[in-house]
Amino acid sequence: MHEMGIAQDMLKVALEYATKNKARRITQFNVEMSAAADESEDSLRFYLESLTRGTLAEGAQVQIARVPTQGKCFDCAGDFLWTPDLVACPHCSSPRVRPVVHDEFRLTSIDVE
Ligand SMILES: [Zn+2]
Repeated sequence: MHEMGIAQDMLKVALEYATKNKARRITQFNVEMSAAADESEDSLRFYLESLTRGTLAEGAQVQIARVPTQGKCFDCAGDFLWTPDLVACPHCSSPRVRPVVHDEFRLTSIDVE
């Protein structure tokens, strides 16, 4: 249920921004999702949609863009662009690779009216 906390944080930030800017309505959430995220895009969307009910953001669209993430090799310490189907390090072919995960979801901007 990690997505629920993420959705709550995003909504909080968005509502604070909207209030500060005297927006009447939040029409869209623009979210970037790490290509390495384990969380589900559908559940984030679901939680955002249910949490926004009765708020300025009710009915807002949720745009989720998948963004590439950095990968790291345990054997040669090489950096590369990580994708979920990557099985070996592009430098030394070691299978001991992992994504460098920062934020799995990031609210990049919101659209308001
Ligand atoms: Zn390597």
